[in-house]
Amino acid sequence: MLEFIIIFIAVWHITATIFSIYIHRSLGHNQVKFHPAVEHVFRFWLWATLAFNWPGWNRHWVCHHRKHHRYSDQTQDPHSPHHQTFKQLNNTTNELHGVTEEDFKTYTPDINPFTDRAERFYNKQKFLGFHFHIVLLFVLFGIPGACVAIIFALWCRTIATFTGKYVIHAVGFRYAQQSESDQSRIVFPISFLLGGEELHTNHHNNPTAINFAHRWFEFDIGYWYCKILSTVGLATILSRQ
Ligand SMILES: [Zn+2]
Ligand SMILES: [Zn+2]
Repeated sequence: MLEFIIIFIAVWHITATIFSIYIHRSLGHNQVKFHPAVEHVFRFWLWATLAFNWPGWNRHWVCHHRKHHRYSDQTQDPHSPHHQTFKQLNNTTNELHGVTEEDFKTYTPDINPFTDRAERFYNKQKFLGFHFHIVLLFVLFGIPGACVAIIFALWCRTIATFTGKYVIHAVGFRYAQQSESDQSRIVFPISFLLGGEELHTNHHNNPTAINFAHRWFEFDIGYWYCKILSTVGLATILSRQ
């Protein structure tokens, strides 16, 4: 059991960190640019662990997220737990998220959907990555590893929605709140499990800053991964820190 818990936390931590530093900070906010090889590793990981590769997902996600910042927790917010059911939050179709062609023009004029060979393969073989992940973790860690990969395949996209859209806007501290309507929360001042997204209110207050930690007692692990990757030449930090 202990082995299972350790493997689960490790895989979850890597996945959450990739979400935070790649999808959110890099694609969504252009705060950091990763080396193409690193970017491919991230996309491969998202495909293998979560099948996070429907056609045009990158443009959709960024549009959706930028609109979320524009209308945080107001009725026009495409993902607020204060206005939508969990089923709506967990759905990825444009219609339910309220993302229109007009929104794409407004929020993502700089983003093109991924159409390279890797992406076409991921789109076509959407669930093949799950098989690869299960076999890999079984070879590396035996039955506990395979169980972790199976749980990821079955439930972790839903858990990711729960943490990434519900928890960070509904659970935690409000000591950093600057806006009345914005309900984003500091889930915990020291981040680990959500790759830095625990400090979500700070990010809403300063969406251009790559470091989500703003006070002496706060720690943003995602920022430090970006720093390390930039130190070894695998990333370029583009925003203020
Ligand atoms: Zn953001
Ligand atoms: Zn938010």
